[in-house]
Amino acid sequence: MSLAAGRPYLAIPGPSVIPDRVLRAMHRGSPNIYGGPLLELVAGLWPDLRQLAGTLGHVAMYIGNGHAAWEAANANIFSRGEKALVLAMGQFGLSWAGSARAMGIEVEVLDFGKSSPADPDRIEAVLRADAGHRIKAVLTTHVDTASSIKTDIPVLRQAMDAAGHPALLAVDCIASLGCDEFRMDDWGVDVMVAACQKGLMTPPGLAFVWFSEAARLRCGRTDLATPYWAWGPRVEPDEFWQYWDGTAPTSHLYGLREAIDMIREEGLSRVWQRHRVLAGAIWAAFDAWGAGNPAIAMNVADPAHRGWSVTAARLGSPHATRLRDWCETKAGVTLGIGLGMAQSTDPAFHGFLRLGHMGHVNAHMTLGALAVMEAGLTALEIPHGPGAIEAAARVVAGGA
Ligand SMILES: *Cc1c(COP(=O)(O)O)cnc(C)c1O
Repeated sequence: MSLAAGRPYLAIPGPSVIPDRVLRAMHRGSPNIYGGPLLELVAGLWPDLRQLAGTLGHVAMYIGNGHAAWEAANANIFSRGEKALVLAMGQFGLSWAGSARAMGIEVEVLDFGKSSPADPDRIEAVLRADAGHRIKAVLTTHVDTASSIKTDIPVLRQAMDAAGHPALLAVDCIASLGCDEFRMDDWGVDVMVAACQKGLMTPPGLAFVWFSEAARLRCGRTDLATPYWAWGPRVEPDEFWQYWDGTAPTSHLYGLREAIDMIREEGLSRVWQRHRVLAGAIWAAFDAWGAGNPAIAMNVADPAHRGWSVTAARLGSPHATRLRDWCETKAGVTLGIGLGMAQSTDPAFHGFLRLGHMGHVNAHMTLGALAVMEAGLTALEIPHGPGAIEAAARVVAGGA
């Protein structure tokens, strides 16, 4: 017996649920890319993209996913052999470091483990020790989607300033843009990267790099900035099609326009608050389950260091895999696998899962997913504390 027929819910941390409005907006034939309405649509995207990031700076758009956004940032910030300091709080920080290393950039990784936030004192000490200023930029995730750790960007900026180091600050907001509060200019961020398939609710395919005027002046003429990746021509294009060094991603542009319209209609700060409340409901449920079984726990102990768009948790092996299978096959809810916590060949891999709560997600989806998880825990006889759904409902009641 299965109760999964009906609208499925993909509750993984990207790609996220695509709103029907976005799907409908994308469903049309090829437009003229050399003139007409598409050009106006694109012209209108730039100010909205700046507003989403909280910057008056520049933004370049590429056809690509998050990995492409990393390479775009790397290529414009560094020449071969220049040095990056990468802060790693999970798999995505390590992967950004890997992409930089593969491009010939010298990389020093400050690894804070998989459950702890970045330690600003250690960062300050490393920057102070770099008296010759060989480090050209500090790269970090805002929210690492594998661990769900959120980095306190203003505190990081303070540490860099306290060290008196001129390195640029580059932040990966792929999991957090349009979900978690972020203010690029106010927080002193020089470069920021994101992609469209998480908080921006559009199918994977668009990558973005925002950069300050200071970053434009210091970067962009690096020997890694090949014609496709160089951000300069994308900011002041002579002709529309040159934005993409070729054909524009027409359907994606319609989808992105619609998705940003939805965010503007709701209001960005309300979008952030919606994510904050829904995350709080999920955390309350995990706290209640864990109170009855110490094997169940969120990966990040301190709520202040948890992202609002994804929650990583342990259930004890093999219960996470059993629960994911049950939720998908019996109830139509797909939960995310644990990523970077244990190798997939390691039995411990089956002890971790993630819940994505990013983008087009609301109270009934979140409470529904949690109630399905509760049913799965019960059906599979996985010990868990009582009152999780009641606790989550109280958070929703108080936050709505
Ligand atoms: C999803 C994600 C990425 C990778 O994006 P892809 O589109 O899968 O290449 C990188 N960093 C973070 C923080 C992410 O959440």
